[in-house]
Amino acid sequence: MQDETALYGAKMMQPQLTGVDAEENNLRPHHLEDYIGQDKVKQNLKIYLEAAKRRGEPMDHILLYGPPGLGKTTLAGIIANEMGVQIRITSGPAIEKPGDLAALLTNLQEGDVLFIDEIHRLSRQVEEVLYPALEDYALDIMIGKGPSAQSIRINLPRFTLVGATTRAGQITGPLRDRFGVLLKLELYSPDELAKIIQRSAGILDQPITPEGAYELAKCSRGTPRVANRFLKRVRDFATVLGDGIIDRDVALLSLKRMDVDALGLDELDRSLLRAIIEMYNGGPVGLETLAAALGEEAVTLEDLCEPYLMQMGFLTRTPRGRCATRLAYEHLGLKAPESSAPEDNGQQSLF
Ligand code: ADP
Repeated sequence: MQDETALYGAKMMQPQLTGVDAEENNLRPHHLEDYIGQDKVKQNLKIYLEAAKRRGEPMDHILLYGPPGLGKTTLAGIIANEMGVQIRITSGPAIEKPGDLAALLTNLQEGDVLFIDEIHRLSRQVEEVLYPALEDYALDIMIGKGPSAQSIRINLPRFTLVGATTRAGQITGPLRDRFGVLLKLELYSPDELAKIIQRSAGILDQPITPEGAYELAKCSRGTPRVANRFLKRVRDFATVLGDGIIDRDVALLSLKRMDVDALGLDELDRSLLRAIIEMYNGGPVGLETLAAALGEEAVTLEDLCEPYLMQMGFLTRTPRGRCATRLAYEHLGLKAPESSAPEDNGQQSLF
């Protein structure tokens, strides 16, 4: 690890090192066969990896997209592992200047995977340095200034860029076009999440019944990171209040104590729906307005709350803003308005 810090300075993310990251790392699968769910992604990826290995070439550049916590970083690690190469991990906002990227790229070994999380947050100048690196494995560097400036080209080792983003729409066209493989991760089903919870419980040496795992899975918002987080907290309740085993009763009691409801909505999800309903008459209301009303960042609502609320059918996005559906009213125990005129608030088709 020492050399990585030396190479990339403090900007390099060090996922192996501390606290929450270290714990999360322990639970990460290292091989494609241990990666649960995402079957379509896995099947195709297996073929691409096998083909690259047979040709003796590095894997083509890959863009992973989907909400936070679905396994993008994990998959990047698996790709490196399956190819038998090293992975270097950084993120869009950490690469401030073209020089930072140049330092990263020139220190890669042949075949290495460079993982850039939140790749949509790269600056324009950095992106422009990345284009020839992706296409020709080369860096174009300007030496000097003014009329005497000269461009020189430095060859790079052949590498694989794995980019991850929660918002594919914010990646510029030219950058997106330079990825040979685009993979979209979907929210997980409760059955898949129950398997992930049981696997993680095994690693943590925590006894859990299938029913207990399933109760946690149902409330995990389709997201492995949430599932693993619940598992760790419910383990605390089982240790202190129970006999150490996570069964259905312990799971239900713990979820209730954590203010997570039967469908996995937490306090923020419910506040969001309540704000749309009670302050804006069910919507439509713009995301920024909603964020200001709740005292939250728009990006938190958009990335963390909305994908799941939309999947559950509680929220829709219309061109004029967010609307709560009849299901949302019912879930919160509120009376939904009668069907209204089309120009009223755009919800008619939802009811
Ligand atoms: P992202 O990079 O998309 O935010 P991560 O790769 O960091 O998500 O995954 C979050 C956590 O969820 C990790 O600790 C990992 O162990 C777990 N995880 C994610 N996807 C899977 C999966 N398919 N199977 C098992 N565990 C998973």
